[in-house]
Amino acid sequence: MMKKAIYLILICFLSAACSTSKQLNLNVFSIEDDKKLGAEVAAQVESDSSGYKFLDSIKYAFVYKYVNQVRDNILNSGQLGHRNDFKWKIKIIHDDSTLNAFCTPGGYIYVFTGILKFLESEDQLAGVLGHEMAHADRRHSTRQMTEMYGVEILMEIVAGNRAAIKQISGALIGLKFSRNHEREADEYSVKYLCPTQYNAAGGAGFFEKIQSQGGSKIPEFLSTHPDPGNRIEAFKTNKINLGCKGENQFISEYKQMVRKLP
Ligand SMILES: [Zn+2]
Repeated sequence: MMKKAIYLILICFLSAACSTSKQLNLNVFSIEDDKKLGAEVAAQVESDSSGYKFLDSIKYAFVYKYVNQVRDNILNSGQLGHRNDFKWKIKIIHDDSTLNAFCTPGGYIYVFTGILKFLESEDQLAGVLGHEMAHADRRHSTRQMTEMYGVEILMEIVAGNRAAIKQISGALIGLKFSRNHEREADEYSVKYLCPTQYNAAGGAGFFEKIQSQGGSKIPEFLSTHPDPGNRIEAFKTNKINLGCKGENQFISEYKQMVRKLP
């Protein structure tokens, strides 16, 4: 039974059909499960065999301090449900060719130097971090697994055999979120930034730049996501609807940080 379930998880993550699954707010996993899953995924991402190279946190202390401050500004918005439950630990991956960032369950955040160099201001970085942190805070990974496999089968895996967490975590690497979860992460990015001094629609900046550069530069991870144009609109509409007043972008400060990157 166990093997079959794990196999199903693996093939489902590779299949587009999974992303159309109905959105329910059920989650058979506990907060502790999210934390354990995240720690397992983080261990795999950070193992030598993953091939990721990380920026040294001492040599690049300025960059880490800067990015961590942006994260703290988001955490201090008071809008996250699991601010004190999850790790919210950032590691920067030295890879200029990847325009991406991701966050595991339980809040282990990974940011590629490629996206740091692509973005042009601090509010844009805050928007991207807010989006990734929302995936963890809204517990999208474990909600998605609950939706895909149903409560019964997962109760068997999770409750019956906690060791399976380790195996499930393998399937989480490379997980594609559903369109609804992407939309929700964008929405929460604005919500998190709204009480801060940032332009709360900062996340739109990433998509505006992608769009202005034409189709050829669209990173692979966006291909299954909602249309960039719709996402730009949604960021801006959400900002207006929530009455967010912040307008700061911190462009020169951001460029100063980028200059310290290798
Ligand atoms: Zn996302």
